[in-house]
Amino acid sequence: MPTKFYRLRLLIAGLLIAVPVCGSSSAAQTSRSPQSSGSSTTVVIDAGHGGHDSGGIPGQKVPEKEMTLDVAQRLKSILTANGYRVVMTRDSDVFVPLPTRVAIANSYPNAIFVCIHFNSAKRAGADGIETYFYSRDSLPLASAIHYFVAGGAPSPNRGVRRRGYYVLRKTSVPAVLVECGFLTNPTEATYALSASYREKLAEEIAAGVRGRFSVTSGLSPTRVATGESIPLQSYTDQTNVRDSERSRSKRSHKKSSSSKSSKKKKSSKSIESKSSATPKEGEG
Ligand SMILES: [Zn+2]
Repeated sequence: MPTKFYRLRLLIAGLLIAVPVCGSSSAAQTSRSPQSSGSSTTVVIDAGHGGHDSGGIPGQKVPEKEMTLDVAQRLKSILTANGYRVVMTRDSDVFVPLPTRVAIANSYPNAIFVCIHFNSAKRAGADGIETYFYSRDSLPLASAIHYFVAGGAPSPNRGVRRRGYYVLRKTSVPAVLVECGFLTNPTEATYALSASYREKLAEEIAAGVRGRFSVTSGLSPTRVATGESIPLQSYTDQTNVRDSERSRSKRSHKKSSSSKSSKKKKSSKSIESKSSATPKEGEG
């Protein structure tokens, strides 16, 4: 009898221990589900360029600033419908300085920051989708957005890249910059000029935002049918890319960020031309 009673007590004790463990793990899962994160997360959408800054390179036929704004506004509609609070750094054809864009993102502690750009290069053949991040906290978001955009677009996959762009380096919240194809590439420019394609891009970016907690370290080369498991993307670290301009600015990188910001302000559009000017950036 005493032995049986002891066993029963052990069983009850075991159950009591097991219950809170299960409870907490399921609670953690619930709080991480895309549905519940929608209402509590602010998505700051940053349409690249604007106003006097058209983006792209001189002589480019399709203005980047118009394409980025259109995709950003479509993304806003989708995410708002999904229950996210959305803040736009610009919602019309105006120039917003990079520090202002960053300040907007940083004013929402629970935000994620999504910058939308299109690429350009002197070489018309350069093509593909690439996604940039800087802080390690931003990698899951970059992985998820890139997984969907590169997976949903007919363009080549140029991969996830780490680079210290001002808007990525200065944000204190997870921040990602997605390059939605090359407007200097005739095929990709034709895609971008189609409203249905821009809607598709917005849908894929939104899927990445919703799926950012589903990123796993397991390697799965293809899109999973359920879309539940998103592989952590391998990335190219370009923060230490050496070219004459970059290696010179690298030394004063940390100390002179403010002076660099004014320099970078002008080069908001050089985000693309810089990568296109350097063959080692991967457009070879
Ligand atoms: Zn751009």
